[in-house]
Amino acid sequence: MDRLVIVGASLAGLRAAETARREGFAGSLVMVGDERHLPYQRPPLSKQVLLRTLDADQAALRIDDLDVQWMLGEPARSLDIARREITLEGGGTLGFDGLVIATGTHARKIAGLEPDGSRVHVLRSLDDAAALTTQLQHAAHVVVVGGGFIGCEVASACRQLGVEVTIVEAQSHLLKRAVGPEVGDAIASLHRRNGVELRLGVGLRALEHGVTSEHVVLTDGSVLSADLVVLGLGASPATDWLVSSGVDLDDGVLCDASLRVTGAVGITAAGDVARWPNGRYGHSMMRLEHWTNASEQGSAAVHTLLADAAGKAAEPFETVPYFWSDQFGIRVQSVGMPSQASSYRVIAGSLTSDSFLIEYHDKNELVGVVALGMQSRILKYRREMNQHPARGHQHPKN
Ligand SMILES: Cc1cc2nc3c(=O)[nH]c(=O)nc-3n(C[C@H](O)[C@H](O)[C@H](O)COP(=O)(O)OP(=O)(O)OC[C@H]3O[C@@H](n4cnc5c(N)ncnc54)[C@H](O)[C@@H]3O)c2cc1C
Repeated sequence: MDRLVIVGASLAGLRAAETARREGFAGSLVMVGDERHLPYQRPPLSKQVLLRTLDADQAALRIDDLDVQWMLGEPARSLDIARREITLEGGGTLGFDGLVIATGTHARKIAGLEPDGSRVHVLRSLDDAAALTTQLQHAAHVVVVGGGFIGCEVASACRQLGVEVTIVEAQSHLLKRAVGPEVGDAIASLHRRNGVELRLGVGLRALEHGVTSEHVVLTDGSVLSADLVVLGLGASPATDWLVSSGVDLDDGVLCDASLRVTGAVGITAAGDVARWPNGRYGHSMMRLEHWTNASEQGSAAVHTLLADAAGKAAEPFETVPYFWSDQFGIRVQSVGMPSQASSYRVIAGSLTSDSFLIEYHDKNELVGVVALGMQSRILKYRREMNQHPARGHQHPKN
């Protein structure tokens, strides 16, 4: 392999580049990124950056001397697998021997609800965070549409800045998909105690642009007036540039157990964009939008490319999902797959307080743990679950 190209110059892409050099790859290494910034951390964008306790440039990821050719501000427009080249937005082409697809996700948008960076915002990138941080300085009331992690963190930051905030969430619980209704209710209570107004079980019908404010029209007919609206509607995989490539796309780039893009040779995918059969969970197809997974997969995707190039067996990538979120100074953490549980037990603290730990079980097996404000205890679970044998014992599908 002479030239390794990584598309997506963020966390997974950087970890891929670091791994390539660490493993002795001496060929040319090219990082293509549509943002004009060098790789940076996204988690602080909805936390310290909004609170202005961290400058945007302090969110930069540490980059060692990797002898990388950076092609920043240059989106990849298409991929030609047969010719082994990508075409850039500007029309130029770039050949590769090995390719890592690490294009992550875009903030989900809805037609007719276009963010303008002035009164209507999304929060995915450093530029989004800079625009929102600026506008928040003059805002008295913010409406956050979507009660997922980003929406909850934005609401938390708003209250800590003294800004009135309402979360509109179509589900009857906050964070229901990520942590289930019982923890969602506990987090809702945390938000209410801190002055967030919650409108649960009601959706967004329309946004009307008033002269001095936005009018947020809800499905129950009520209208909220806001200086700023933040759309926290989730994320969708950034695969638009792959649509005509022949790569299998289905809620992300489909990969095998070692992160090889299915049906392609010498191409792997990593991070938020990759969907792969996780051997820890009977090879059920997963796509995770968590920092730890992106970091680990970036590295694993390059290990696979290097192993294949050397004619060696590649390791399957298996992981126990882990993520965290910070709201009102309290850390929410989840390990494993609580959504696979048939029952749960509160092990420490209480769901009515700001501190608890819940175990999730399925058929007497521990499948997940969620905790509020119990960092050291949950990290112990994380270590143990990582050492525990996989759920199901099927052979990796390479
Ligand atoms: C505001 C925010 C807060 C978060 N907080 C947490 C947290 O507290 N805990 C946690 O576990 N996770 C958190 N996450 C998730 C975590 O940051 C992501 O899982 C991680 O960034 C994924 O890394 P990635 O490299 O796969 O993708 P990304 O970081 O999305 O990077 C993909 C890169 O590819 C670029 N790209 C897209 N299309 C193209 C193209 N065609 N050509 C070239 N480049 C392209 C994108 O612009 C981007 O720069 C947060 C995410 C956000 C947005």
